[in-house]
Amino acid sequence: MEDSRSKYEAVIGLEVHAQMLTNSKAYSNDVNTYGSTPNTNVSVVTLGHPGTLPVMNKKTIENAIKLGLSLNCNIAENQYFARKNYFYPDLPKGYQITQDTTPICTGGFIDVKSDGNSISRIGITRIHMEEDAGKSIHDIDVKDTLVDLNRAGVPLLEIVTEPDMRNSQEAYNYLTEIRKLVRYLDICDGNMEEGSLRCDANISVRLIGAPEFGTKVEVKNMNSIRNVQRAIEFEIKRQIEVLESGGKLYQETRQYDAVNDTTHAMRSKEAANDYRYFPEPDLQPIQVLQPHIEAIRKEMPALPSELFEKYTSQYGLSEYDALNLTDSKGIAHFYEEVIKDTTNFKSAANWVMGDVKSYLNSKGIEIQDFPIQATKIAAIIQLIDKGEISNTSASQRLFPAMIERPNTEPLLLAEELNLIQDSNEDSILTFINKVKEQHPEEVVRYKNGEKQLVGFFMGQLMKVSQGKADPKSANQLLRNELEK
Ligand code: ADP
Ligand code: MG
Repeated sequence: MEDSRSKYEAVIGLEVHAQMLTNSKAYSNDVNTYGSTPNTNVSVVTLGHPGTLPVMNKKTIENAIKLGLSLNCNIAENQYFARKNYFYPDLPKGYQITQDTTPICTGGFIDVKSDGNSISRIGITRIHMEEDAGKSIHDIDVKDTLVDLNRAGVPLLEIVTEPDMRNSQEAYNYLTEIRKLVRYLDICDGNMEEGSLRCDANISVRLIGAPEFGTKVEVKNMNSIRNVQRAIEFEIKRQIEVLESGGKLYQETRQYDAVNDTTHAMRSKEAANDYRYFPEPDLQPIQVLQPHIEAIRKEMPALPSELFEKYTSQYGLSEYDALNLTDSKGIAHFYEEVIKDTTNFKSAANWVMGDVKSYLNSKGIEIQDFPIQATKIAAIIQLIDKGEISNTSASQRLFPAMIERPNTEPLLLAEELNLIQDSNEDSILTFINKVKEQHPEEVVRYKNGEKQLVGFFMGQLMKVSQGKADPKSANQLLRNELEK
C-alpha cells in the first residue's frame, strides 16, 4: 500500500465558514450571541414572515473588506445578494440570503509556512457574505430532532480556496493561519468546537503527473483543525485504495466520524440540491467605493505576518520566537507593550514566552487576566540588565512576588526581598576568600590547569553569597584571585 500511495498526489481545496462577531444578525436586529436560551433571538424577519424585509448589517461588509484586504483580494465595487433556495427544518425562510455571482472579495492569496523554510502560496478564490441556518439538534431528545433558530441569520463569511493544497499538513497550516487572522481582525472568535469557524474539505487524488484533477469528494463535520487534517488523511487513503482496487470514485459529500476516524457517504452529486439562485429582491445592491476601503485599511490592526516580519528582521528574534509571540493577538500585544520600555527584545521575548506564558498555562487563564502590567515586566528586565538582580532570582523570587503584589514597583520589592546584587568588589572578595578556604584542593587543581573548575567556584560563590554576587564582576574577580 505504501508503494501505491507514493504514485499519487492529493489535491485539496477548503471552504471555511466564519461566524461574525457582530452585535446583531446579518439582515435583522436580532441579537447575535452564542449560548442563549434556544429560540429567544428570533424575530419575524429571521423567520421570513410575509411583509418583513431584511436590512443589511454594515458591520459584515466592513469585516469582509478587512479579511479580503488581509488576504490580498480584490474588493468588488458593485455587488448584489442572491437567494439560495432549499428546504430544511432549520431554515425557516426556505432560502439563505447569500452572494452568488458577485462575491465581495476575489482573487487573493495567503502565504503559509510549511515545514522548514518552505512557503506555500494558497490562492483565495472568493469570500462572500451570507447568513447561517438554525441548528438541528439530534442528540438531546431520544425520538425527535430539536430545532434552535438562534443561529438562523447569523452573519457568515465564506472563504473558498483554490485547489492549491497537496497534503493534509498544508491544510492544517492554512486553517491555523486563517483562524489566527480572523482573531487578530476581531471579526470571528475562531472557535471550531462551538462551530463559529467551520471547514469543509474538498479532496481528490490523481497519479503524479496526471494533467487533470481527479474526482473530488467534499468532507464535512470536523470540529477541530486536527480533525480536518485527520479527515483529509483518511480520505486520501480511502480514495487511493478505491482506485488501486479498480474501483471508481463519485463526486459526493461525506461526513467525518471523529470517534472512528473514518468518513461515510452523506449524499451524492446526483442527489445534490438545485438551489435555483436568483437575485434577492428585498435587498439593494451594494456599492463599495475606494475611499471607504482605504478608511477601513487604515483602521486595521497589525497582522500576524507583519509582526512576524518585524520581529525577525528588526528585532533579531528567531523565527521560532516570532511565531510563538504572534500566535495569539493578546500575547503579541503584551509583548509590544513590554518593548515600549526596553530595547532588550530577546530578553522581553524570553520573559513573555517563558515566565508569563507558563504562569498563564498553570492557571488556565488568558493574557487579558495576567496580573502584572507589561511595563513592570520591562522594569524587571531593566533591573537584570543593570546588574541589580540576577536572572535567576528575578525569575524564581521576584516574579512570583510580583504576581502576589502586582502594584508594587519591582525595585522596591527586590530590595524588600533582599535580592539586590552585590557588585561591590570588597564584599565579593570576602565571598571568594571564603570559597577558597572551603575548597583548598580544588584551588590547587585549578592552578594545575583544570580551568573548567571556574564553573564550580562560581556555583559555590553564588551559594555563599546567597545569589547576590553580581556574576559579571564576580567572574572576573574570581579568575584573578584563583591565579594568585
Ligand atoms: P462545487 O461547484 O462542487 O462547489 P467548486 O468549483 O465551487 O465546486 O469548488 C469548491 C471547492 O473545491 C474549492 O475550494 C475548490 O478549490 C475545491 N476543488 C475543486 N476541484 C477540486 C478537485 N478536483 N480536488 C480537490 N478540490 C477541488
Ligand atoms: Mg462551490
